[in-house]
Amino acid sequence: MTESTDNPDELLGTDIHVQATYRLTEALVASEARMKRRIDLLKEIVFETDTAGNLVFLNQAWGRALGHVPVESCLNRPLQEFVVPEDWERLNRVLSGERDETIAGQQRLRLRRHDQTIAWMEILASRMTGGGNVGTLYDVTAVKESEDELRKLSLVASFTDNYVIIADREGRTEWVNQAFVRRTGYSLEDMLGRKPGRVLQGPGTNRAVVDQISHGLREGKPISGELLNYTRGGEGYWVRFHISPVLDASGQVERFVAVQTDSTEQHRIQSEIEAARDRAEFLASQAQAANRAKSEFLAMMSHEIRTPMNAVLGFASLLEHTTLNAEQREFLQTISRSGESLLEIINEILDFSKIESGKFQIDLQPTDIARCVTDAVNLCQPPPDKPVTLRLVIDAKVPRSVITDAGRLRQVLVNIIGNAVKFTSRGSVEVRVGYAAAAHRVTFEVQDTGIGISPQDLERIFAPFSQADSSTTRKYGGTGLGLAISQRIVEALGGKIIARSEPGKGSVFSFEIEVSEDGEETRTNRGGTDSARELSPAARALRVLVVEDNEVNMLLAIRMLAQLGIRADRATDGIECLQAFASTAYDLVFMDLRMPKMDGFEATSELRRLAGADPRVSGVYICALTANVMPSDRDACLAVGMNAMLGKPVRVEDLIKEIERAALHRAKVHTRA
Ligand code: ADP
Repeated sequence: MTESTDNPDELLGTDIHVQATYRLTEALVASEARMKRRIDLLKEIVFETDTAGNLVFLNQAWGRALGHVPVESCLNRPLQEFVVPEDWERLNRVLSGERDETIAGQQRLRLRRHDQTIAWMEILASRMTGGGNVGTLYDVTAVKESEDELRKLSLVASFTDNYVIIADREGRTEWVNQAFVRRTGYSLEDMLGRKPGRVLQGPGTNRAVVDQISHGLREGKPISGELLNYTRGGEGYWVRFHISPVLDASGQVERFVAVQTDSTEQHRIQSEIEAARDRAEFLASQAQAANRAKSEFLAMMSHEIRTPMNAVLGFASLLEHTTLNAEQREFLQTISRSGESLLEIINEILDFSKIESGKFQIDLQPTDIARCVTDAVNLCQPPPDKPVTLRLVIDAKVPRSVITDAGRLRQVLVNIIGNAVKFTSRGSVEVRVGYAAAAHRVTFEVQDTGIGISPQDLERIFAPFSQADSSTTRKYGGTGLGLAISQRIVEALGGKIIARSEPGKGSVFSFEIEVSEDGEETRTNRGGTDSARELSPAARALRVLVVEDNEVNMLLAIRMLAQLGIRADRATDGIECLQAFASTAYDLVFMDLRMPKMDGFEATSELRRLAGADPRVSGVYICALTANVMPSDRDACLAVGMNAMLGKPVRVEDLIKEIERAALHRAKVHTRA
């Protein structure tokens, strides 16, 4: 400073200038540093190239975008070096832009990162007056990938008939397919940026499902369901939808794809099915009610007929034991036979009504097949004056004891063998029983040399109330129900009846039943103590009361008991029955069910109720006597505390059985007491 100090003024002036320059420079440097710091904070890459295209400035964003290379190592190298060769031409077009200002329309370039992967950049550049460029590069890799993904999704989605909506992570529509546009009437432009729910849902849309969708979107979870949407024109349509989130590489939800299948048609069909089902249920319940009414009517009718029949048959059998002349005996036999065949018809009708009303039950018990068939054959013996021989052949393989419903099986056999005998005037009826061990099936075949059945009749004979021709009834009797009942019984026992026939030559009826072999060997004494018409001394000692309002039936019961050596007391209704117990501790009560004043059910409940307080009542055995043989009656009897039930007309064998049971019961009660 001393060298040029001749002129203090000049000296002062120079000094001020230097200082100003110095301060200005300092300010500029500081400002540039500040500027640079700011530039470094930018997300965009800021670059400057010289006239030769070499990089002379880069901010820190460069390092971040290309994988943390030190920025300095990239300076003084051409920008082109970092761009993939395919995009060089585009780069040069951007950099050599004729005009000075920003190139209109941003351009995308691929830069190669340090690790050789590709980064998509949007480039914006200005040419500087002295040559060279300043510009920015904006990393759009994520956007680009997302766009590609969207394009791929859209491409696939455009080919489907399903409605497809692609929405961003906020659930705003980015794209919809043509099927969607066609169905809803909303174009892609209408939908863009809008939440589909806002546009499509309407008054009938299920809120719960909408909430479920919102929840799923928030959680980024897949959601499925069904929903009512509305078209632009306000028409409702059902869709089954599935919304799945599309995740980016880092596992973040990037967008949602909703695929919807139109389920309007299914809905229509569904509601039609529901309506049809309702209708069917209604009709079924009506049919059921009608059927119930029918079977109740049949049961009632059979009750009404059985009661007097009971008396007719009972007294006929009592009469047989008196002295009669030949003519009287013959009349009596005719009465009995007619009564029995009438009873048989009633039984068939009742049976059929039970089958029809579904009240038909199968009672599986160990059964001696040979005995069951023998019983049936014995019942069907042709009258002595008929030149027909009835033969029975039982294969040795048939097990002694199997599990089946013996009563029902006998019923079927009696019907089929009975028919064979009935429709055969000469020749033979042969019954063959076999066993298919592997299939656990007992097979039956009944072959006759009778009138036979024409092919067209063969088709109908298993239908209810059908007979081969109307003259049959006149000539042979019958209801045409036997085979219908048999067919259903055999079906219930696991088989089917088949008939073959040649008119004039004869018929073969064959069927099989499924059985399981009884583990225990045939027990002795199965089939009951038949023909033991004597009561044990213990049974004869019982005190017996008959409660019955019908005079004739009362008389019959008293007489039957008398024949067995029992003197029974009488009561004509429930009230008299209770009064009778005041003087006598009865062991056995035969109780009619339907009586005036107090019926049998009420009287029984009353007796059972008194049992705790009154020792005279406690051990009594109560057996219902009823013409009602519906299973529901049996249940009702047991429910009020009866011990047993006998159907009218009562058979002596059954009566004996019940009396013996009552004697056993008494013995048990007394040993306990
Ligand atoms: P029905 O009580 O009249 O015998 P079914 O149902 O048992 O009723 O038989 C129906 C009809 O099938 C009979 O009326 C008869 O016409 C014919 N049918 C049954 N079995 C034979 C047979 N073995 N031979 C000729 N016809 C038969």
